[in-house]
Amino acid sequence: MSNLDRQAALSVCGGRGFVVSEPVRELLSPRRVQLGESTEVRRLLPNLGRRMVGGWTFVDHYGPDDIADEPGMQVPPHPHMGLQTVSWLHDGEVLHRDSTGSLATIHPRELGLMTSGRAISHSEESPEPHARFLHGAQLWVALPDADRNTEPRFEHHTDLPVVTAPGLSATVILGDLDGATSPGTTYTPIVGADLTLARGATTSLPLDRDFEYAVLAMSGEAHVDGVPVLPGSMLYLGCGRTELPLRAESDAGLMLLGGEPFEEEIVMWWNFVGRSHEEIAQARQDWTESTRFGEVKGYDGGPLPAPELPPVALKPRGRVR
Ligand code: MN
Repeated sequence: MSNLDRQAALSVCGGRGFVVSEPVRELLSPRRVQLGESTEVRRLLPNLGRRMVGGWTFVDHYGPDDIADEPGMQVPPHPHMGLQTVSWLHDGEVLHRDSTGSLATIHPRELGLMTSGRAISHSEESPEPHARFLHGAQLWVALPDADRNTEPRFEHHTDLPVVTAPGLSATVILGDLDGATSPGTTYTPIVGADLTLARGATTSLPLDRDFEYAVLAMSGEAHVDGVPVLPGSMLYLGCGRTELPLRAESDAGLMLLGGEPFEEEIVMWWNFVGRSHEEIAQARQDWTESTRFGEVKGYDGGPLPAPELPPVALKPRGRVR
């Protein structure tokens, strides 16, 4: 999905300065953002005071929306740079097209993983016909400096590993959890997992002491380390944990996001992750002039225009509020 915010704000993030080295329980409220005419998303990252969790730098939760009589998701061709996008669904489908020629329909609990590298463009839409409900999350992972100019590619993984415990089923989206490893390509030590909890389940997940973590609630009523986390909210957990207690008051769906704190300072604007104002401005110009980001074939409609750059020069300057 694209950041369709017309007042796209600069976000400076990364660096160790803002990482909490011990376990904490910091509840993050979503910011409601309108995407197009019919879709409203709840943005958890970047958030006021919390910009990244490991390499995870962007988290939108959307739905469940009844789109039986609606076009559903309609995100025209738009560019990305310096990041990976993760498409994750609990209900519905998303048809993905990109400038490397990919054409894929993503279904619930399949991984659509797009590595933009130096430049890619893609579109995302609800296919016709589509399921009645659309519910999912759109996430971005920042690429480290050594890999951010890699060749663009798209991966569609339909058979991800699943870890089970009484009352818990965990699908490993990226990285590894309890010895099970996702086939998705990663560039920094990171983990993403989808957690399905049965009503009444009391369990715990093994964590890596060196990672920072957060849990996004997708559905149901669950307590994460004793804190009730409502759907559309995210609990930041800090570092220094070896396990995470979970309890489900009803059937519940969560996402565990974590990773080694991202050391590099980055500049994020619109759909780009870079290291300087000049890079971001160049990417915007290249998209506007239809150079570098390739072409998405088959989407019924024109590409998304870039918003205006903010008047102030974008500079990485550590984690700021
Ligand atoms: Mn996108």
